[in-house]
Amino acid sequence: MILIDGKKTSELLQSEIAEEVITIKNNGGKIPHLAAVLVGNDGGSETYVAGKVKACEKVGFKSTLIRYDDTVTQDELLKCISQLNCDDDLDGFIVQLPLPKHISEEKVIEAINPHKDVDGFHPINVGRMVAGMPAFISATPFGIMELIKRYKIETSGKNCVVIGRSNIVGRPMSILLSQKGIDCTVTICHSRTKNLKEVCAQADIIVAALGRAEFLTGDMVKEGAVVIDVGITRVKSDKTKSGWKLLGDVKFDEVAPKCSFITPVPGGVGPMTIASLLYNTLLSSKKVIYK
Ligand code: NAD
Repeated sequence: MILIDGKKTSELLQSEIAEEVITIKNNGGKIPHLAAVLVGNDGGSETYVAGKVKACEKVGFKSTLIRYDDTVTQDELLKCISQLNCDDDLDGFIVQLPLPKHISEEKVIEAINPHKDVDGFHPINVGRMVAGMPAFISATPFGIMELIKRYKIETSGKNCVVIGRSNIVGRPMSILLSQKGIDCTVTICHSRTKNLKEVCAQADIIVAALGRAEFLTGDMVKEGAVVIDVGITRVKSDKTKSGWKLLGDVKFDEVAPKCSFITPVPGGVGPMTIASLLYNTLLSSKKVIYK
């Protein structure tokens, strides 16, 4: 069994990005600039955004954090987005989700200029990805594809089961895995899927992205399978200082011995997400996706 080291791979990807930034600087080019919009004081969102800002500094990007109180109106937020859309110094920006209930995430995502949508959530980028055109691909699926490529995991003709059909993980994963050049035969499962255990037991590759701690058990996985665990659930623990620990969607101790490759939680998919966002910002600054 090979443990897929997302932390190490993320550090490698970030050091590759940092090297490119040095080259850009040395050639007198413009330093990539990423902005993040944070609404409210949700603890999780604060942590994610702080991580993104810190990662920008580490690779030499410029970063801007724009904060709003959770009483901000939808119109105020949309106005901010239209200003960011027109800011020539910005290569990309993200609006950290979730947003307060009185703001439509759909309207906010649609308001972002697709050329600066480094989260890859805008329907134009989603549509381009589906059509196999150059697009900003959302960070978590991009990070998973990067792990698959860098660990040289064979995908052609493999049966792949994706559990979860969310717009940010499950659905884009199912599309990327079925694309030409990757060539998996993909089954996408969700909360209404019948015989999930039997479906998973046929899979060469399983991507578990449902958000239920330790859902995928040993009896659902065949010998030699590749298991990618996307889930992050915080559960109480008396063994950690913080009183919390993170669990994935996979019952690791049961599943890992049967796998050819598996991602741990933490240290698997999670660390790749931020590196992927930085990579998208670099692509944007180099005008690779939209010329
Ligand atoms: P979501 O809640 O939007 O979607 C969950 C999906 O799982 C739904 O499509 C639902 O139909 C399916 N599902 C729920 N229960 C099921 C069941 N019993 N059987 C089969 N399918 C079931 O979640 P999401 O945003 O896609 O996130 C999924 C998990 O991945 C969460 O734990 C989240 O925290 C984590 N996540 C991690 C990263 C990362 O960087 N590692 C990034 C995004 C999300």
